[in-house]
Amino acid sequence: MSEYDYDLFVIGAGSGGVRASRIAAGHGARVAICEESRVGGTCVIRGCVPKKLLVYASQFAEGFADAAGYGWTVPEPAFSWPELIAAKDREIDRLNQVYLRLLDHAGVDLHLGRGRLVDAHTVEVGEQRFTADKILIAVGGRPWVPDIPGKELGFTSDEAFHLEQLPQRVLIAGAGYIAVEFAGIFNGLGAEVTLAYRRDRILRGFDGDVRQAVEAGMQGRGIEFRYQAAPARLARGDDGVAVTFSDDSSGTYDAVMFATGRAPYTWDLGLEQAGVRTGPGNRIEVDEYSRTSVDSIFAVGDVTDRINLTPVALMEGHAFADTQFGHMDRPVEHADTPAAVFSQPPVGTVGLSEEQARELGFKIRLFRSGFTPMKYTLAGRVEKSLMKLVVDAESDRVLGCHVVGPDAPEMLQGFAVAVRAGLTKADFDRTIGIHPTAAEELVTLRQPLESN
Ligand code: NDP
Repeated sequence: MSEYDYDLFVIGAGSGGVRASRIAAGHGARVAICEESRVGGTCVIRGCVPKKLLVYASQFAEGFADAAGYGWTVPEPAFSWPELIAAKDREIDRLNQVYLRLLDHAGVDLHLGRGRLVDAHTVEVGEQRFTADKILIAVGGRPWVPDIPGKELGFTSDEAFHLEQLPQRVLIAGAGYIAVEFAGIFNGLGAEVTLAYRRDRILRGFDGDVRQAVEAGMQGRGIEFRYQAAPARLARGDDGVAVTFSDDSSGTYDAVMFATGRAPYTWDLGLEQAGVRTGPGNRIEVDEYSRTSVDSIFAVGDVTDRINLTPVALMEGHAFADTQFGHMDRPVEHADTPAAVFSQPPVGTVGLSEEQARELGFKIRLFRSGFTPMKYTLAGRVEKSLMKLVVDAESDRVLGCHVVGPDAPEMLQGFAVAVRAGLTKADFDRTIGIHPTAAEELVTLRQPLESN
């Protein structure tokens, strides 16, 4: 009989924590998990899932408008934000129950409350203390807001899902995933949206052509961009929130949303007390097996700030449980992680951008196509999709695949397999297209743009 209450104690029942606890229990470990909020974590409760439901809601406006080109007469549509939020909440409640059942069926003990490390083998949840052979920290991240006067007049994505009314004039600060996704949501639902960014183009880190195509698509939908301008001060005005920007310009909005990044949720977790080392931005430092500086303590997901995506946290949690409890050797694998941005138009991407490939010293061949999606032809919508392949000129291997346009995220999952498998441009060319689709373009890109 072990000297500990459990073989594994997990702090945080989000994507990474729940996956790790279920897999470890499946390997025969005695597992407990604690959660201070709702089981499901950021992704299910206040992230990917409710976000995508709101994206779907916002896309109907475009559908109603485009239907006329296909012979439909659509009466003036009306939209109710409170009804959407209530429906979304019901779905999140259902998923929360599903997660609770998953833990229960796996035989994982759930302790509701905030977990705090006491030492290398002890976790405190409220008044109770539990000991475990191994501890996994999977507490995720929290929105981060710059410390400017009046910041409390703004809100973050956490609150965006619970606004009582749809604001009419919205300012979004930031230009990353959350900023562009919510800009599309509010815009599609009928708000006037301004996006303010301290640099000169959205989605820093993505391929340059992708950034340009998304910006053009968002501008075409009426979203206004204020570049080289971050909110510097917020004050309550007669007619809304008065914002002064870093370039001394100003504007008044009904709502100001900060989408200025997320930070590892490491405060008051007992890390110092237990001897767990943190790095830049307070992320927990881990090795390729997600082990921290303390032998018995591990960490996965956003709290480690490696690649902050749900499927990555799932992989990290799964690999940890297989290695520690399933007698396998599974280091984490982050290479060629595909990603999607549910902006409007959306992005699907995997592998290296043109800029990254050049920086790494590859001699590259580029293939690019911009075309009007077939659905937009009768609708009369003026917008081009983008398809781009970055190919290593020496080995012919496809290093990166980037798509902007309808269904791009769906399309990329399959192409991610090809890129991850190291397939060549010749392999792409040998593949027969599916007609008529947009995706077929990726296997019929014949003429390279340029080489270096
Ligand atoms: P990001 O890191 O993607 O973007 C943060 C934005 O805020 C950047 O534009 C950044 O500018 C800007 N910013 C940072 N600090 C300041 C400041 N002091 N003043 C003004 N602007 C500032 O974070 P998000 O919050 O959008 O998303 C967090 C993470 O969540 C993402 O990185 C992603 O990993 C994940 N996510 C994934 C989604 C998906 O898979 N579809 C959806 C939503 C989130 P700069 O570029 O200059 O640094």
